[in-house]
Amino acid sequence: MHQAAPWHNVTFMSKKSKNLSDDTRVTTLGRDPHANFGVVNPPVYHASTILYPNYEDLRDYKYPSSPYGRMGTPGTDALKNALAELEGAHGCRLCPSGLNAVIAGLMSVAGSGDHVLIGDNVYEPIRMSANTVLKRMGISVTYFDPCESMAGLAALFTANTKAVLAESPGSLTFEMMDIPALADLAHDHNAALLVDNTWGTPLHFKAFQHGADISINACTKYVSGHADVMLGAINYSKALAPRVEKTYRALGLCAAPDDVYLALRGLRTMAVRLQRHSETAVYLSHWLKKQPSVARVLNPMLPDDPGHALWTRDFLGGNGLFGIELVPGSDDQVAAFFNSLELFGLGFSWGGYESLAIPAGWESARTASKKLPAGPLVRLHAGLEAVEDLQADLAQALETYAAASNINQGT
Ligand SMILES: *Cc1c(COP(=O)(O)O)cnc(C)c1O
Repeated sequence: MHQAAPWHNVTFMSKKSKNLSDDTRVTTLGRDPHANFGVVNPPVYHASTILYPNYEDLRDYKYPSSPYGRMGTPGTDALKNALAELEGAHGCRLCPSGLNAVIAGLMSVAGSGDHVLIGDNVYEPIRMSANTVLKRMGISVTYFDPCESMAGLAALFTANTKAVLAESPGSLTFEMMDIPALADLAHDHNAALLVDNTWGTPLHFKAFQHGADISINACTKYVSGHADVMLGAINYSKALAPRVEKTYRALGLCAAPDDVYLALRGLRTMAVRLQRHSETAVYLSHWLKKQPSVARVLNPMLPDDPGHALWTRDFLGGNGLFGIELVPGSDDQVAAFFNSLELFGLGFSWGGYESLAIPAGWESARTASKKLPAGPLVRLHAGLEAVEDLQADLAQALETYAAASNINQGT
């Protein structure tokens, strides 16, 4: 019925690519120059209607490329094939945003009367979706403390628990979870494990090798890497392929061709960008630990971080996103810190080439975590700028923070 479109071969070199390093595969996957007049990058196809050559082919659904723009173009197939290969997934579907990919993933495995377990440290807007739309669909949610023991988590499963959603490390508070152990626990209870792998990326955390059934990536972040694209990816196992593919199709989801092109372009440099982001983040983290205004650095890449053992066991690399807990200070001090930053921009998202800082105000969002960082918490994204410039920017902001305290005390 559905004949394979010719571009389903665009994973050129992918047969050989299993033996190649990911650093190489990001440059080879999802493109076939010789099917495109020798042009290096797959072109952007803008398509809704796709014409069939004759009545018989239309009647028999023998489409020349894809049946309709919503079901894909050569560009979307190129990106989803490349991401699925890198993740080690059976397949991948592209969504208009990372949030959409998470919710579509949950809707693929849970329905009315079902229960899902969601990590208390997940990307916060997921809670908004779960507490409104999923609830309205009859899906009940229990949030769990990401620092809870496996025995403690086991007690949260009910007979109708269909899915567990975990984010490790949490992208605001950086708790690491034992994903293989969580996968075993979920599977013992006939539930699927969904991992938000945005921090891990398809290069540095192989979610399927560690037991996940679905791995979500907000490609908005490191895959695109240039702060100009909204895009999400649902990667899935063979067992869940029918559920995910049907749900995706039934929801009418698709991704825009220009955004997909930019994400595929970003993918080509992701390995080298991530290396630089992590080097800078590790350097800054070590230095920040020694600063008098910093109480703690939250970064599983650091040897004394509580999540470091899991990170070294399960991850192949890191990136530029981490947190710091400042020594206790007033709101005015916190404002002075942020307002004095020059290279670190104030804004949401991360994974682009530029450095960012936000106050990590988790208190209002958390409902299940027993132990949370005390001081003002700052989330930093170390971009691709020179490390000494970033260090100088943070140094003067920390001095401003401390000086604002002295002003308050009238000294
Ligand atoms: C940003 C983010 C998302 C959501 O992605 P959008 O493309 O912004 O919708 C999901 N999970 C994590 C961990 C994120 O950082």
